[in-house]
Amino acid sequence: MAKQTLQGATPLVADKLKALGLVTQADLVLHLPLRFEDETRITPIAAAVPGESAQFEATVVSTEIHFRPRRQLVCRVADASGELVLRFLNFYPSQQKALQPGARLRLFGEVRGGFWGSEIIHPRFRVLHDDEPLPTALTPVYPTTAGLPQATLRKLIARALIDADLGETLPDELLSRLGLPDFATSVRALHAPPSGLDAEALARRQKPYWRRIAFDELLAQQLSLRQAYAARRAKGAPVLAGDGALTEKLLSRLPFRLTAAQERVWHEIAADLAQPWPMQRLLQGDVGSGKTVVAALAMLRAVEAGHQAALMAPTEILAEQHWRKLSAWLAPLGIEVAWLSGSQRKKEKQAISEKVGAGETALIVGTHALIEEAVAFARLGLAIVDEQHRFGVRQRLALKQKGVQAHQLAMSATPIPRTLAMSYYADLDVSVIDELPPGRTPVVTKLVSAARRHEIVAKVRELCRAGRQAYWVCPLIEDSEALQLKTAQETFEHLSAELPELNIGLVHGRLKPDEKAAVMEGFVRNEIQLLVATTVIEVGVDVPNASLMVIEHAERFGLAQLHQLRGRVGRGAAESACILLFEQPLSETARQRLRIIYENTDGFEIARQDLHLRGPGEFVGARQSGLPLLRFADLEDTALVEAARAAAEEMLARHPAHVERHLARWLAGRAELLKA
Ligand code: ADP
Ligand code: MG
Repeated sequence: MAKQTLQGATPLVADKLKALGLVTQADLVLHLPLRFEDETRITPIAAAVPGESAQFEATVVSTEIHFRPRRQLVCRVADASGELVLRFLNFYPSQQKALQPGARLRLFGEVRGGFWGSEIIHPRFRVLHDDEPLPTALTPVYPTTAGLPQATLRKLIARALIDADLGETLPDELLSRLGLPDFATSVRALHAPPSGLDAEALARRQKPYWRRIAFDELLAQQLSLRQAYAARRAKGAPVLAGDGALTEKLLSRLPFRLTAAQERVWHEIAADLAQPWPMQRLLQGDVGSGKTVVAALAMLRAVEAGHQAALMAPTEILAEQHWRKLSAWLAPLGIEVAWLSGSQRKKEKQAISEKVGAGETALIVGTHALIEEAVAFARLGLAIVDEQHRFGVRQRLALKQKGVQAHQLAMSATPIPRTLAMSYYADLDVSVIDELPPGRTPVVTKLVSAARRHEIVAKVRELCRAGRQAYWVCPLIEDSEALQLKTAQETFEHLSAELPELNIGLVHGRLKPDEKAAVMEGFVRNEIQLLVATTVIEVGVDVPNASLMVIEHAERFGLAQLHQLRGRVGRGAAESACILLFEQPLSETARQRLRIIYENTDGFEIARQDLHLRGPGEFVGARQSGLPLLRFADLEDTALVEAARAAAEEMLARHPAHVERHLARWLAGRAELLKA
């Protein structure tokens, strides 16, 4: 399909259109109305309903400029049924002139009860000269931008509806199987619905025409992501197959058996690694589901195949914990794990860099220092990113560039709801650990008003006396690290005064890495019983003996954060609890968030409700897919997302010409914008 640019648009208008993302004729066709105004009927003035917009036909009785309370044009009009005041607070002399007594007007606006009876402020009006027929379609109101009048948009869109190719992009049999209306009919109906169509239902997007457009949009997304997926497969990557010498050895030495879910995802990953194209897989598993051991197996597989593997974590605490855990597991197998962090001395970093560069070290764990320092891998085969949602796009891309053709595994405990995984993430393969290791007791969640804080302090005392440990998470203070720090310090001091018999530790983002490590070490060894912390402990920290989590000002935290924090406990066999202290008054969303976290333990369900609460933008905010957010489709419509996915697969396999036309319609303008 040849690219059709916008005819009839002046350069100025073209710029405005571009600001709305409208570059091609197809873009205009897909610029759908927000709502409609019904100009197909004339309402008698006496039948006007205050608060509702309507169209009238009336004759001007008088037009005067009033000066009180401020300068304004006041025009009285009448039809056979009654009188109406039109009020203009801003007006041109030309308007005053047009509103001559005796002039016949067709006007549109919202009627209000005013001081002098019914009135309309700033009605849209036109002087009638002949018997002009009423339009037969509802009048669309489009999303627009300053300086681009509705009338201009309407004209351009009406023209695009004639000039643009509205041909069907779905294969016939698919269309009839789906029972959707065809494209041309749908867009025509949505831009200019015949007067019989219910404007309300259209505006609420309840007509099958909307469904067709939403389907097309999802389909375009699926097609382009699946194409990206196929393009990746065309690239090469080292085949990481192994004889199991190391992986089997690790498995036989672990103090536990893999869960069935861990077993399954490990096989999925191993199968990918053995392919000659780069894996791009997302490993999802709720907090505590045991992703680390799966990562360790994948890293060993790389070593078995004579390659290197890198594991990157978003915080120093987490990276170091991974490094300790991996070292403990792998040292008995005679495998050394290198460690690289931003806080190491220059010399140290350089020495590690050199070993990695020479290929002497096969495995390396680190923070983003791994990508920021100039580490040149000798033969990187696998790059793993833990808690991938915490990394910026730039960091992820940089790691990708390190090992030009490395396999990639991203791990995340922030579950991506299924529909989101199927749509925005359709270019990734996803493995899910949907089972927790046995012997865990579910965490009991309690919502407690901050007024009862002293009871919670007493509970901490009792618990720690019994040999268990607890976390106390300080209130989150958005946008002020200094204040956050101060609060953490104060919380620590208060608790130390209230609980003098306990050893209390404090950990926050500003501690030096060795100080931080010392505190964590003390907590792991149960020398510290109560750990006061900021959200630095949000991700990954694993101390099974800790069985109580207290979160102050829980109402300030996001759902994903609360779920992550709660996941720090319930890792051992002891019964665990999470206490959410909240301060009144609660905002409506805070109340909803607390209810969701209270009622649900399943991370996927929490994520689903979070998606409902916040919309997909937040979830994919950091993701740069080159695709716009969905404008028409609703991700909660799982059935439609699934239908689009199936259709995409079918079309890619059997209807390549349709694929091309469909993508041209939906993405040509987008590509143009990205180029600019
Ligand atoms: P996450 O998925 O949150 O990263 P971890 O990998 O930190 O979880 O695992 C949580 C805890 O569960 C760790 O102490 C880990 O050693 C342990 N674990 C992992 N797999 C199993 C299993 N199959 N059986 C028992 N414990 C396990
Ligand atoms: Mg983890």
